[in-house]
Amino acid sequence: MFETHFNPEYLSSDVIVGQVVHCFSTRRGGVSTGYLESLNLGVHRGDEWKNVYENYRRLGAAVGFTPEQTVFTRQTHTDVVARVGAADRGDGLFREVEPERDGIYTDEPGVALVCFSADCTPILLHDPVHHAVAAVHAGWRGTAKGIAARCVEAMTRDFGTDPADLQAAIGPCIGPCCFETGPEVRAAMLASLGEEAEQFIRPASQVRHSERSEESVSPGANEKFFPDLKALNALWLRRAGVRTIDVSADCTRCQPERFWSHRAVGNARGSLAAVIMLTAL
Ligand SMILES: [Zn+2]
Repeated sequence: MFETHFNPEYLSSDVIVGQVVHCFSTRRGGVSTGYLESLNLGVHRGDEWKNVYENYRRLGAAVGFTPEQTVFTRQTHTDVVARVGAADRGDGLFREVEPERDGIYTDEPGVALVCFSADCTPILLHDPVHHAVAAVHAGWRGTAKGIAARCVEAMTRDFGTDPADLQAAIGPCIGPCCFETGPEVRAAMLASLGEEAEQFIRPASQVRHSERSEESVSPGANEKFFPDLKALNALWLRRAGVRTIDVSADCTRCQPERFWSHRAVGNARGSLAAVIMLTAL
């Protein structure tokens, strides 16, 4: 179950417990202004750096990490996951991240892993037995490529993680209520996940949904689909052997005052972040 905290406002999952802190941010409680109002956590959104730093400071003070402890992903819709550590702290906030990495993982305490979203799916993982954590960005391409499962595999390889021990939280992203796509997204999911994915991809012709229902009512080559990215990522995690999976009910597009949604406002937006860090044992 997800809980909401305030000042600044963020979400946490009650399945992620132990020697760990984590959060899924909202856009409330920071110092940025205009379309970045107010808790923008992206350094490439047109914000002043000092505002982004202050937003991390505020969020970190509430959650239990510092801006200096952060390590960012560099998100390019791949299934690349990279191991990081203390030497990488400052990657992203204080200097550019060079290598592409849509997911990052570590077994070192005091390293605050940060991934970003504004409709895409943020996923946090915690292994309380081998003391390891991961932050994963999964847009529809990353979801189709199974990046969440790739990350579980990498943790098993590098740390001996048993997937059955993992605590997984899938954060706010665009929901099946709003994520209208063409047939290529459905095709990519079915190609990698098989028929089991079909139940999480509703054809628009079956969706009786306010203003969108009249756009595409007839099945066919131009059929639109409404994939459930959270459910598809949960399916990847279950197949990888993960048993404890918490899924946020929030849709970023449905709550523009609370979250940024790329679908809703395009590039005139800030970035939401999901953060996870092992605390000292
Ligand atoms: Zn929605």
